[in-house]
Amino acid sequence: RPAQNIAVLGATGSIGTATVDVINHLNVVDPQNRWCMRSASGHRNLNCLTQMAQSVQDAPAHLILSDAQAAADYCPPPELANAKVSVGAEALVEAAIDPAIDIVVAAIVGRAGLESTLAAFEHGKRVALANKETLVVAGPLVRERIEKSGAEMLPVDSEHSAIFQCMGTCSSKPKRLILTASGGPFRTWSTDQMDAATPESALAHPTWEMGPKITIDSATMMNKSLEVIEARWLFDLPADKIEVVVHPQSIIHSMVEFEDGSVIAQLSPPDMRLPIQYALTYPRRLPCQSPPLDRTQTWDLSLEPVDRERFPALDLGFEVARVGGTAGSVVNAANEQAVGLFLNGEIRFTDIVQTCRRVLENHSYQSDPSLETLLELDRWARKETLRCCGQIA
Ligand code: NDP
Ligand code: MG
Repeated sequence: RPAQNIAVLGATGSIGTATVDVINHLNVVDPQNRWCMRSASGHRNLNCLTQMAQSVQDAPAHLILSDAQAAADYCPPPELANAKVSVGAEALVEAAIDPAIDIVVAAIVGRAGLESTLAAFEHGKRVALANKETLVVAGPLVRERIEKSGAEMLPVDSEHSAIFQCMGTCSSKPKRLILTASGGPFRTWSTDQMDAATPESALAHPTWEMGPKITIDSATMMNKSLEVIEARWLFDLPADKIEVVVHPQSIIHSMVEFEDGSVIAQLSPPDMRLPIQYALTYPRRLPCQSPPLDRTQTWDLSLEPVDRERFPALDLGFEVARVGGTAGSVVNAANEQAVGLFLNGEIRFTDIVQTCRRVLENHSYQSDPSLETLLELDRWARKETLRCCGQIA
């Protein structure tokens, strides 16, 4: 049986554990192939890494412990005694470019996933891309690497997977991409209510179960902004061809409008296992664990416009998608830092997006930055966020 060797970077997260589930499922529904998690990374939650490594048919040959501190106390169980263990952030790159790897699942959260994801693109891998922040920070550099290496970029983000699936039916460029947004837990809240929102209420997403950072991003709608930027680079379309509509049921994952006015949508239950599996098996479609849509009940599928006043993140996202350059790196870093401050009770919920806007305005924009410049600005923006929030002088 031909083996599909997969590196799951961020195997201990929400997407990572769902990916392990999909890999195990594929070995049942696709016995002609051997779906193999050859390498897996964890950062702090190394018990979960052990669990993931023990749950797959073929034990991984390579474990990456990206946090050196957590790694110091890690002792793999006897079943994993033969696995090579690498420690530190550089080991993520080593795993991403391993010649034995066919598919890299980029499931690390935030800018921390950047180097390994870029390296996978540079080395011509199929990249199942969950780590949208890589495209937000360095979209043009990703496209450059793909052009040189012939790497494949398969979206895992449900909206982008939906668009990718809708486009499959047409050879000409779409007229418009219509991203759907659940609206998050504060869809109907007033700005005053959001001013006083607690981390607990912001972490209670109505339709999706995800890691904490993206869950807060969904509440501010910064997630949709990051997705507009992600779509801009993934599909190489200008920002003015991208739209966002609110769809609270999270069944229509996105839509594509074509030149003739026809709009094609992709529907499925809110379950990440479908887009993850499609990114692994594309162009093949195989039975998926995600339950079918229940057509025995009356359906309510509603669409409503985004309230840009209550959710200023959207304007910010479109602006970043329009200007490109250093803007994505700065806003992404500011957002990561501000989300952390909010979760620690240091700033108000509504300060998150306001701070991102301020940090963007305070930076000196460049249109065609190098990777070094982007990384330097990432560090600057984190500090500037702390400064704007009164955490440092
Ligand atoms: P989680 O917080 O659940 O998981 C994050 C993963 O990244 C964990 O494996 C974590 O390790 C690891 N990690 C955290 N910090 C670092 C670091 N500094 N260096 C290396 N690894 C690190 O996040 P999600 O799974 O929710 O999200 C992952 C990515 O997928 C994000 O980019 C998100 O936007 C995207 N995404 C997620 C969706 C979802 O449904 N969850 C949907 C669409 C996109 P550990 O836990 O061991 O500390
Ligand atoms: Mg999404």
